[in-house]
Amino acid sequence: MEHTVTTLNRPDKDFDIKLRPSRFADFTGQDKIKERLELFVQAAKARGDVLDHALLSGPPGLGKTTLAYIIAEAMGANIKCTSGPVIDKPGDLAGLLTSLERGDVLFIDEIHRMQKSVEEYLYSAMEDFVIDIVIDQGPNARSVRLNIQPFTLIGATTRSGLLSAPMRSRFGLVNRLDYYDASTLKTIIERSARILNVDIEPGGALEIARRSRGTPRIANNLLRRARDYAQVKAGNIITAEVAAKALALLEIDESGLDEMDKRILQTIIEKFAGGPVGLNSLAVSVGEEADTIEEVYEPYLIQEGFIKRTPQGRVVMPRGFDLFGLKPGHS
Ligand code: ADP
Repeated sequence: MEHTVTTLNRPDKDFDIKLRPSRFADFTGQDKIKERLELFVQAAKARGDVLDHALLSGPPGLGKTTLAYIIAEAMGANIKCTSGPVIDKPGDLAGLLTSLERGDVLFIDEIHRMQKSVEEYLYSAMEDFVIDIVIDQGPNARSVRLNIQPFTLIGATTRSGLLSAPMRSRFGLVNRLDYYDASTLKTIIERSARILNVDIEPGGALEIARRSRGTPRIANNLLRRARDYAQVKAGNIITAEVAAKALALLEIDESGLDEMDKRILQTIIEKFAGGPVGLNSLAVSVGEEADTIEEVYEPYLIQEGFIKRTPQGRVVMPRGFDLFGLKPGHS
């Protein structure tokens, strides 16, 4: 299937930038995190300090990159962006760090995928704003200490469980983003529609919101597809009915679940009689890593009442059976 929810959660740079809120006031939802970050930004600014390092974790498409930009903007600082797997030598990181000005934000996406050797380099930079560079090789090798400007590291990760303890402990502000409920997503869709100049009725926005797997990026992408549909088939207005038809055409079902979500549910039902099943056995059966299941897929399935976590393992709830037209105990 080409149009799965998963493909709709791939970043599209131009589109993401266009719809990306640039101020806390335009960032909808995640109220506690927003309130906390705004407070720390204000306090740091009032003292003329550099903001503490911040870690943002949570599944893809929930707004981690967006928040990093908003924080930099609110601090009146520049932001440099990179990602864990891209920095493959300590020298690359040294180049980035020495180019920062006081108060700048260095955003490292997928920070859990940074190499150990690079990560260790980052510790002294985060803690004391110094880096030790090794120059020359062999017997002449020596280390030179360089001062760097105080900066704010913002790390984003979808898999906080894979972050090393020393790395995690160096972040003063640690926040986990949660999935958005449908009414918050509806507000986000309505804002995006205004930016894209799309006519949408509240019922249309809600229909899209309900099928967006709690994820703003998916919501925005579904809005874009619904807009195309409305333009060609429905006089340019996204009503609830138009949204439903557009999403049916994309084979996005009512639940908004993606293929891996469904595979997880189906596996527990068919191979483990609805559960309980331990995380590792489940991971082997669906062919996905245990931490990915735990950090990327499960939170949404649990939040929406498809499965629950018990001391004995994962259990499919009636809503999960319903999805396949089954009843608990009759798998
Ligand atoms: P992540 O870094 O967590 O993968 P992004 O910050 O890139 O996610 O967000 C993906 C897109 O979703 C952004 O382009 C932005 O338009 C939208 N978005 C995310 N969170 C929000 C929000 N709270 N309010 C409005 N739009 C949002």
